[in-house]
Amino acid sequence: MAKAAARLKQVSVRGVVQGVGFRPFVYRLAHDHQLTGWVLNHSGGVEIEVEGPAPALDAFVHDLTAQAPPLARIVAVEVSDAPPKGHSAFEIRHSVAQEGRYQLISPDIATCGDCLRELLDPGDRRYRYPFTNCTNCGPRFTIIRDIPYDRPLTTMQPFAMCPACQREYDDPLDRRFHAQPNACPVCGPHVWLEGVGEPGRRLAERDDAIRQAGAMLLAGKVLALKGLGGFHLACDATNGAALGILRGRKGRPAKPLAVMMATLDDVRQHCIVSDEEAGLLASQQCPIVLLRWRGESTVTRAVAPGNLYLGVMLPYTPLHHVLLRDLGRPLVMTSGNLSEEPIAQTNDEARRRLGPLADAFLMHNRDIYARYDDAVMFHVPCGNPEDQASSPQPIRRSRGYAPFPVRLPFEAGQILAVGAELKNTFCLTRDDFAFLSQHIGDMENLETLEHFESSIALLQHLFRIEPKVIAYDLHPDYFSTKYAARNPQHALRIPVQHHEAHIAACLADNGWGPDDGPVIGVAWDGTGYGLDGKIWGGEFFVGDYHGFKRAAHLEYLPLAGGDAAVYNPWRLALGYVYALTGTVPDLPGVSEQAVRIVCQQVELGLNTPLTSAAGRLFDAVAALAGVRHEVTYEAQAAIELEMLATLWGGGMQAEAGSLAYPFDLEHGDDVVVIRLRRLLEGIQDDLAGDRPPAEIGWCFHHTMAELMIAVCQQLARERGLLTMALSGGCFQNRLLLGLAVPGLERAGFRVLLHRQVPCNDGGISLGQAVLAHFEAQ
Ligand SMILES: [Zn+2]
Ligand SMILES: [Zn+2]
Repeated sequence: MAKAAARLKQVSVRGVVQGVGFRPFVYRLAHDHQLTGWVLNHSGGVEIEVEGPAPALDAFVHDLTAQAPPLARIVAVEVSDAPPKGHSAFEIRHSVAQEGRYQLISPDIATCGDCLRELLDPGDRRYRYPFTNCTNCGPRFTIIRDIPYDRPLTTMQPFAMCPACQREYDDPLDRRFHAQPNACPVCGPHVWLEGVGEPGRRLAERDDAIRQAGAMLLAGKVLALKGLGGFHLACDATNGAALGILRGRKGRPAKPLAVMMATLDDVRQHCIVSDEEAGLLASQQCPIVLLRWRGESTVTRAVAPGNLYLGVMLPYTPLHHVLLRDLGRPLVMTSGNLSEEPIAQTNDEARRRLGPLADAFLMHNRDIYARYDDAVMFHVPCGNPEDQASSPQPIRRSRGYAPFPVRLPFEAGQILAVGAELKNTFCLTRDDFAFLSQHIGDMENLETLEHFESSIALLQHLFRIEPKVIAYDLHPDYFSTKYAARNPQHALRIPVQHHEAHIAACLADNGWGPDDGPVIGVAWDGTGYGLDGKIWGGEFFVGDYHGFKRAAHLEYLPLAGGDAAVYNPWRLALGYVYALTGTVPDLPGVSEQAVRIVCQQVELGLNTPLTSAAGRLFDAVAALAGVRHEVTYEAQAAIELEMLATLWGGGMQAEAGSLAYPFDLEHGDDVVVIRLRRLLEGIQDDLAGDRPPAEIGWCFHHTMAELMIAVCQQLARERGLLTMALSGGCFQNRLLLGLAVPGLERAGFRVLLHRQVPCNDGGISLGQAVLAHFEAQ
């Protein structure tokens, strides 16, 4: 009787449905509803054929999305009817590869709760085994060579499963059914400890290696640890001397470093953790989260000198869990590289590049196919909590997030956008997906360029994309621009202005549709090539994907000495004050001769490009206020000014209105220029009156927020626009965000902030791709 009523449905599911336990879920679901047929993975997703009574089929299709496994992200389900075939059972069939089709794969996922329990259970066969994983966790994009995502196409290919692992892998009801990286101490990869003097000489193997590595770290040594997407350099975060050695060897005197802590409870001892931040820390992506650092924390202040925030992450591999628990204290975990080089990938590369930096290596024999740095997130609860403005934002989008696509609110062609020079990412589009690469880095050395080119090749291959359009930055000297000039050969080449790309990225990040109308875009950062050949970065635009118009900007000021000014903010302070007032500010420690040279450069315009960049203004004010004259990493002076101002301003928000310095809006023909003479004079008067730098910094941040609001209100009046998009590296400044966003919302604006891609140059490629798509139409 049941046979007579049998119907057959063919179901195709698109999204992240492979490597996440989707087929066993389908298998169980079919059994629950007493249906027959099959399920299989192919290059484009999962295909299902189910046969049975109509009501059971309907319930099956409903439950397919309603009860999908935790890591699955379903993008589309297509269902069609076909004549019944008389299937006698339900089975899982072998994967099928198809030309030109692609699939979404889950990014790498932190060790799940079930695996952690096994890892810490002395009775379990995977007790302390550093490669424990299952369908719900473990490596993905760091080990994949090709699709479909199956073991032979990953770097697990050399490891043949033992009978016990094979049984798990074959059993649809097991948590490790088709877990491609499945492994155990009998059959899987293993770790060893290796000295640096004689490469390859092993000091200890397997669990002994982990215990000895822990002992070395406790004794103040610097270790290179092979992880998921590359090597880390690690040392005891409570040991100032060990950290000093690491910083000295790495050539990174002051840039904040990240710390790994064993558990959330540990994190709470060192930092203030909100519920949202706790959620981020413990999420399956397991990013570094910037947290307010407690004064009583035993993590040495030199980990993030002059900073109120500490970058913290939880263990995300079994090796981290075991090591951190053995140690019982936090570990500095910074990318295994020399300053500015990409994270080391292969064992030989690590021996060569990190040998001089580390005292020993904790190595393993599972290859890393693609480099992924740790992702960095921050959460500023500013603005209306109902609104998106209070969502967490990425600072670096990498392991755990990339290359999971950003959904576009339109169908794009096949486009490659090559990004910017610093914090580079690139973006490939097809259908309604924008695949942003992981963080590639600063394009300053051969290793990074190779990382850039090989990552483009890999993602083009994995997602079967052959770009017809290539988008790039206007800056003629960017490496990415030069790459775009020669690759791919027959593509249509479209240059995109840096700050317009920032605003377009913010819009796409928020799902802004092509017909949703124009917005006011505020793009504030440290540098970007302008349409007039000057250096922009304090920009207000009006427009949308179909085109932007520059509506206002900070006035042009001299970058005396070009790049030298970026690393010596005293040059900015002097050049700005001299250009605007004709006077020379008091800069203790700067020689008269140096002052004379800079003044001359400004007068004659010698090696002195003009810039409207807001980031440079923050640096200049920091130097003028005596916070810092020279920097060793980008935005260091501005960050230290923000920290001082934040401490000063704690609890003073209510009086904000009266604290700003004056500024002037000058109306040109079709653009408003923000004049800063009175602002700088006000700061100099305060310095003469011995007002503390922290208070000056506080007032300056208020001024910048008020200035932004004033300009936007004027543009809104003229054009009737009430939505704003904020983008550019300056919006990593929490104090600025915390002042500007509520102020803008009080003024009636809806404020769009980044949520999926960074506001800094790491998000540029998304905007380039989107603008190139509409330009190419
Ligand atoms: Zn697991
Ligand atoms: Zn095994």
